[in-house]
Amino acid sequence: MLTIAIASLSGGQGKTTASLMLGRLLSRQGYPTLLIDADPQHNLTTYMDLELQANQPTLLEFLKKSVSAEDSIYPSAGNDNLFLIPADDQLDTVQDYLSNSGVGATLLKRRLEPVTEAFKVCIIDAPPQRSQICLTVLGAADALIIPAEASVKGYGSLVRTLDLLRNLQDVGATEAQVLGVLPFRDRWIGNSQTQESRAAVTGMCEEVGEELILPSIRESERYKQAINRRSTLSDMGYTELEYPFEVLIEKISKLTKKQK
Ligand code: ATP
Ligand code: MG
Repeated sequence: MLTIAIASLSGGQGKTTASLMLGRLLSRQGYPTLLIDADPQHNLTTYMDLELQANQPTLLEFLKKSVSAEDSIYPSAGNDNLFLIPADDQLDTVQDYLSNSGVGATLLKRRLEPVTEAFKVCIIDAPPQRSQICLTVLGAADALIIPAEASVKGYGSLVRTLDLLRNLQDVGATEAQVLGVLPFRDRWIGNSQTQESRAAVTGMCEEVGEELILPSIRESERYKQAINRRSTLSDMGYTELEYPFEVLIEKISKLTKKQK
């Protein structure tokens, strides 16, 4: 199983959008995919239409090992290759557990070990803060996708995320490598990119090198519509908007082949 964290240390950078769209496409292309909602805001769980009862296990119980791994993994409606470990707002209470455990950085990685044969790809939607949950997510990841708004805020989010990654790599708390930076809400007016978007994407290139910059997610209502209609962009007739994810899937397919 290739574990990919989707992380960016600000709100509204496209983490959940990217997690969901990538998960749907990968599973449709034949990859058994496990999504993990690691954000107490639990938007991914909501978009996956999972209505949890208060006593049903989530990532919280998965991390605390109070249920078996399988019991916190839920199938998704209408797609037998896509599964979810959901979250609810109780997930916030795991922060103390992680920091008191002394092995917070490696905990999620260890908990995932029993299911590595069942899935080809695991995608984790990280929270926007530099929290204990974020650290355990990065610790579990083999690869990292950093979505960042094509704006001053997004550039800052990328810089902070890279800084955290390097600090964790330095102390051996993660082996994750950056798979790509995904410019989000890249704004074009007609055929010209807005000045702010262009400056932000140029800055991102300077941070990580052009080869790691993925094709942008353009500012567009279509992505929201696809999510709200539980559909894909190509099913809605906007195949070209899916291009950033096609490029990502190609990169992922190379990594999964290497893992064999
Ligand atoms: P958070 O840190 O709060 O979890 P996030 O990084 O997960 O945020 P998203 O929730 O994926 O970010 O996206 C932020 C908002 O942008 C959402 O309301 C989403 O519907 C919207 N959005 C998604 N795609 C686009 C797009 N291409 N253009 C404009 N808005 C978009
Ligand atoms: Mg989110």
